[in-house]
Amino acid sequence: MARTKIKELLVGDFLDTKVTIKGWVRTFRNNQFIALNDGSTIENIQVVVDFENTEPSLLKRLTTSACISVEGKITASQGKGQKVEMIAEKLEILGDSDAEAYPLQPKKHSLEFLREIAHLRFRTNTFSAVFRVRNALSYAIHKFFQERGFVYIHSPIITGSDAEGAGEMFKVTTLDPKTVSLLDTGGVDYSVDFFEKETHLTVSGQLEAELAALALGDVYTFGPTFRAENSNTSRHLAEFWMIEPECAFNDLEDNMDLAESLLKYCIKYALDECAEDIQFLNSRLAEEEKSKPQLERAEMGLLEKLQFCLDHSFERLTYSEAIEVLKNSTPNKKKKFKYLIEEWGADLQSEHERYLVEKHFKKPVILTDYPKEIKAFYMRQNDDGKTVRAMDILFPGIGEIVGGSQREERLEKLIERMEQMDVPVEELSWYLDTRRFGTCPHAGFGLGFERLVLFVTGMTNIRDVIPFPRTPGNAEF
Ligand code: ATP
Ligand code: MN
Repeated sequence: MARTKIKELLVGDFLDTKVTIKGWVRTFRNNQFIALNDGSTIENIQVVVDFENTEPSLLKRLTTSACISVEGKITASQGKGQKVEMIAEKLEILGDSDAEAYPLQPKKHSLEFLREIAHLRFRTNTFSAVFRVRNALSYAIHKFFQERGFVYIHSPIITGSDAEGAGEMFKVTTLDPKTVSLLDTGGVDYSVDFFEKETHLTVSGQLEAELAALALGDVYTFGPTFRAENSNTSRHLAEFWMIEPECAFNDLEDNMDLAESLLKYCIKYALDECAEDIQFLNSRLAEEEKSKPQLERAEMGLLEKLQFCLDHSFERLTYSEAIEVLKNSTPNKKKKFKYLIEEWGADLQSEHERYLVEKHFKKPVILTDYPKEIKAFYMRQNDDGKTVRAMDILFPGIGEIVGGSQREERLEKLIERMEQMDVPVEELSWYLDTRRFGTCPHAGFGLGFERLVLFVTGMTNIRDVIPFPRTPGNAEF
């Protein structure tokens, strides 16, 4: 008999029908009640075993995490907590699980401990919920763009340009460090390497997306990016997924509108499609909050926070306006910030971003028009000669979730800025061709996928929203 997924069983009309289900035992109570989970939903189904007519040796093998297949009839449940249950008729063990050796006990484990056994953490309620939500969000991203006629572009993972984030890139090479040949100048001779030049893992697909946008109109990338930044924070990974839309003819306003509607669309999609999972994560977070001192507790629960985000438009203001707010803020005056805001031009730290979002505006914020010194060379220069058409979206509990800009489409202005910032003009000649041949205003942004998953799941450490996190000193599994 074909397998029926537990999710279907719980929503469909299966009363008095005979089905086969397969899954992993969560608990086995009173030698009679199995809580079975198959990963299709956070809910378990209760399987009732006729223990008097079952081999005791078989009953003994119904341990936590044993994998079983059961055939039986679906009936209205006698007990509390579930509408239907299965009366087992045929029970088969597909895979035994030694209860003594199994690292996950049916009790609460810390997230830190579970990170050490990331290969098994999928089997917990929390992580199965997180990864179903992550799945729904990645589908929502594609759905959003596809419904709007965007073309999905696969930008390269291995890149030959190190124009952006030179210091933060991972090298890609087949050279053996023991036998590597050196040039007279002391540098490595990459002409004998696989690509006959120096190559790296991409830090962003933006430059390639721009090339595509200036022919296809609206495009997006959604793929892994790599940064060798040695920042061991709860919001940085060395390998993370990024979504980078790029649109010909968009200006910064259009760019902000696009980002805001994308974020709201994804949050709404997850709320609709993963209601039980988010409900579970909501309770999990509420439980966790209880163990914190009153002052540190979040003002809103997860569900409330997500709904709030949908119901309100994001606060939009310029960097210069934000600096005024920060300068006059209580933590700045009382010297509570680690980095005090003294003058215009300061780069905002996450403490400042979080103050603006969580304390001052109490909603998502879009900051625009940053000083050109703290932003990348390709951002469109404003007429004031000081700022560029950049935008960062800041979220409560997360800080920066999106970074983007209107791009500098004017060739002379772009080259001038590259020279000022020591970006090799020759090496990026291919990029400049877009400005040489039919340039146009265009804009785009990068959304960090894991930061979005963090927000929607209410998890607090980015290591807990990607199956196998890569961080400094850790590439386990
Ligand atoms: P941050 O200041 O937080 O390091 P950034 O300014 O380096 O971010 P961008 O280069 O603008 O970020 O990248 C676009 C988006 O990618 C960011 O808004 C963020 O959501 C995400 N992002 C950047 N670096 C990381 C990382 N190391 N791990 C996970 N997500 C990241
Ligand atoms: Mn960074």
